[in-house]
Amino acid sequence: MQQHVSLLPYNTFGLPVIAEHFYAFHSVEDLRLALRQTPPPYLILGGGSNMLFTQNPQATVLKNEIGGMEVLRTFKNKVWVKVGGGVVWHDFVLWAVAQGFGGVENLSLIPGTVGAAPVQNIGAYGVELKDVMLRLEALDLTSGMIWNFDNEACHFGYRDSIFKREAKGRYCIVSVTFSLTIAQHRLALSYGDIQRTLAEHGAPNPPGIADISKAVVAIRSSKLPDPAKIGNCGSFFKNPETERAVLDRIRQNHPQAPAYELPDGRVKIPAGWLIEQCGWKGKRVGNTGCYEKQALVLVNYGGATGEEVKNLAHAIIASVQEKFGITLEPEVNIL
Ligand SMILES: Cc1cc2nc3c(=O)[nH]c(=O)nc-3n(C[C@H](O)[C@H](O)[C@H](O)COP(=O)(O)OP(=O)(O)OC[C@H]3O[C@@H](n4cnc5c(N)ncnc54)[C@H](O)[C@@H]3O)c2cc1C
Repeated sequence: MQQHVSLLPYNTFGLPVIAEHFYAFHSVEDLRLALRQTPPPYLILGGGSNMLFTQNPQATVLKNEIGGMEVLRTFKNKVWVKVGGGVVWHDFVLWAVAQGFGGVENLSLIPGTVGAAPVQNIGAYGVELKDVMLRLEALDLTSGMIWNFDNEACHFGYRDSIFKREAKGRYCIVSVTFSLTIAQHRLALSYGDIQRTLAEHGAPNPPGIADISKAVVAIRSSKLPDPAKIGNCGSFFKNPETERAVLDRIRQNHPQAPAYELPDGRVKIPAGWLIEQCGWKGKRVGNTGCYEKQALVLVNYGGATGEEVKNLAHAIIASVQEKFGITLEPEVNIL
């Protein structure tokens, strides 16, 4: 265990908070040892790419560094791969693509760890973690016992799972097993600029999974700020899901308002568009601001506090509420 550790290198917003107790664990046994040697409560930390620290954590910080990638079995067109919770997500994606295993290529370059990916059911470019996850192992932080959760038991939703709700703070996800394809990959090409970027790259038709991964990396690098240069946590808010009547009302004044149909008849309205309409895009407030290329991303230009970022988020929520009658919900975990 380490005392009085700065979390500056461990959160992508680049906030200089201090953990009084900090323990980096490398295996399940090591985690159990940490639970015996350090005081509760506990905060599991992956890559710190979805956390806004507004104060020093009031908990022992347990940093997940459990490694390992293992092929469990192959059959027909499928391969089951078990990955340690501390593995960097993008390293896993690059490894899968290099093996020719399909399913996660659209999720290239999402920061963070494999163990955190089920927590908010990470998603991008038409694919979500729930589409490829078979099961996971989670260690109960009170009893030290390992529990298996299959896909259904995780209660996945849009940027949501049981680990953000009923089971919040109770478990550490120590491994995730994925069901990937070996051939006849199910390609998801219709989202965002994927087709256009593939064409610009001169990719074959149909493209390979490596072509898709490269296209996604190129798109993301051109649109999102690199946390190593400008502190951020990606999308700060979820895209609101509302009744169709709400969209109809908005379109009376904004006929071009974008929206995606949901299977249940409701619609999803891009939060970035709502924020932009309220005049926030590219606006700077002290050391924080709304990123100039994507209004959904709040940034730390250097020297910001978590409280400043939280205040900016509240101001944005209030103005979207006032203009559109929609309450934005943060995607980022505010601590
Ligand atoms: C530039 C940028 C772009 C992004 N783009 C996307 C995107 O396209 N799609 C998307 O979905 N997300 C995106 N994100 C958000 C982020 O990458 C994901 O939420 C990621 O899964 C967080 O992983 P992490 O290891 O950094 O988690 P952390 O930030 O360390 O933790 C997040 C939460 O999960 C909990 N947690 C972490 N590890 C575990 C574990 N092993 N067991 C139990 N609980 C755990 C933490 O306690 C915390 O509550 C982006 C972030 C950035 C900075």
